[in-house]
Amino acid sequence: MLLVNLRHLEAHEIHLKGELGVAELDFGLRDEMIRAEQPLRYNLTVEKLQEALLVTGSLQLILDCQCVRCLRAFEQELILEDWTCHLPLSGEDRVAVNNDCVDLTPFLREDMLLEFPPHPLCNPACGVLKKVKALKTGGRDVATPSAWSELDKLKL
Ligand SMILES: [Zn+2]
Repeated sequence: MLLVNLRHLEAHEIHLKGELGVAELDFGLRDEMIRAEQPLRYNLTVEKLQEALLVTGSLQLILDCQCVRCLRAFEQELILEDWTCHLPLSGEDRVAVNNDCVDLTPFLREDMLLEFPPHPLCNPACGVLKKVKALKTGGRDVATPSAWSELDKLKL
């Protein structure tokens, strides 16, 4: 858990730097093409505003992916350079406070998940180049089988 003690924030802002393990993050991934087994690195500043916490900083996570087109394994780095999270301390949307502490973990998890690629590709052009070539040579995809048909073979 990544806890912030509200009492420590009364006087001045807090800097948090470290790593959160996968077990704590528990992304709940069901996609076989993406695995998150490396820790999430964070470098954050937490300030207390009038009735809220303001968390700013950077998040970094390296995913182990498998390309959906060529099935190659590759690493994808996700970086949120200017991450900002506003957590109300009052009102309907207020965050849970336990023993003066707020757990930032769910907010890191949520925003990191939004960055996950829906269809991981080893590079944006993977499986596309061959098609472009075929178009230039008259539009018939004669020479090379597409990555998709390779994929179908593998599934068989
Ligand atoms: Zn690929």
